Amino acid sequence: MAKPKIWFNGRLIGWNDSKIHLTSYSLHYGAAAFEGIRFYQTKKGIALFRLKDHIKRLLKSAEILGMNIRYSQKELEKSAKLTVKASGMKSGYLRPIIFYGESKLFVHAKDSRVNIAMIILPWEKYLQNNSVRVMISKYIRIHPKSVPMEAKISGYYVNSLFAILDARKNGYDEALLLDHNGYVAEGPAENFFIVKNNVLMTPQLGNILPGITRDSIIEIAKDNGIEVIEKNLKPEDAKNSDEAFFTGTGAEITPIVQIGKSMIGNGKIGLMTQKLAGLFGDAVSGKNMKYEKWLDYV
Ligand code: PMP
Repeated sequence: MAKPKIWFNGRLIGWNDSKIHLTSYSLHYGAAAFEGIRFYQTKKGIALFRLKDHIKRLLKSAEILGMNIRYSQKELEKSAKLTVKASGMKSGYLRPIIFYGESKLFVHAKDSRVNIAMIILPWEKYLQNNSVRVMISKYIRIHPKSVPMEAKISGYYVNSLFAILDARKNGYDEALLLDHNGYVAEGPAENFFIVKNNVLMTPQLGNILPGITRDSIIEIAKDNGIEVIEKNLKPEDAKNSDEAFFTGTGAEITPIVQIGKSMIGNGKIGLMTQKLAGLFGDAVSGKNMKYEKWLDYV
C-alpha cells in the first residue's frame, strides 16, 4: 500500500515530499508541540478517539510555547479528519505536530515560521508484548518547576528516552519514572494505574501529563462502580499492588506484570485490568454508545 499523504500547512503532500530545513528551530532545541491520536473502525465508520480533546491539548501546548497558530480548533479537527480519510486506512495513529521551521539558530525562536503537519502511521501496538515488565528508573520525571507539565512538547521526551534506554539495558520492557519527591509519576509515554483491594489508584495531576486515556479510564471505571483514588503513590505501593497497568494513546491499556524484582499479583494479567481494557475497547470501537461523545467520525 502507498504511504499515506501528509497534511502540511494546509494541504496534502506525498510522503516523500515532506521536507524541512536543517536549521529548523525545533530540530535543534526540541520546541515542538505534538499529539498522538488513534482512529478506529466502528460500526458507523472510522472514528478518531477524543479528537477535540487532543486538538485542545495540542493548541494549549503550542500556546505555552508562545507559538502563533494560524488555524483554529475547528480547522485542525477538520484537517485531522481529512488526513485520516485520505490515508484510506481503517485504523491507525495520527501524529499532529506544530514546529518552528528555518531559523537563525538563536535560542529565542521569534523569527521562525510556525509549521503544522499531520502524519499517519499504522500503529498496532506501542509496547510489543501483551504485558510488560517495568523498571523503576534512576532518572526522575522532569520537575514541574522546570517545564509546564500540562504541555506535550518534543524536548520533554529526552527524559523519557534516557529512562527507556536504561530500562532496556537492564532487561526490562519499559521504565517507570518517579517524581522529584520520590512518588510514582508515569511511564516514558504512559500514565500509571494500580489496583489494590479492588480500588483503582493513579498518581494525581501535577507532576504528570494529564493523559486523555487516563481521563477516559477514570470515567469508565466510575461509571462501572469502581472506586477511583487519585493520590501520591510510593514505589512500594506500586510493587505491592494487586494489579498495575499503563494507559496512553499508543499503549492503550498495557498490563504490567512485574515492577523491579517484584511480581505483580500472580504475574498474570489481573481481572480488573482485563475488565477495564474490555470496556475501553468497547468505547473506542463504538460498541458502547454511552461513549459515542468521544468519537469523531471522519
Ligand atoms: N504521559 C506521557 C509522558 C505521554 O507521552 C503520554 C502519551 N501521550 C501519556 C502520559 C498518555 O497520554 P494520552 O493518554 O493522552 O495519550
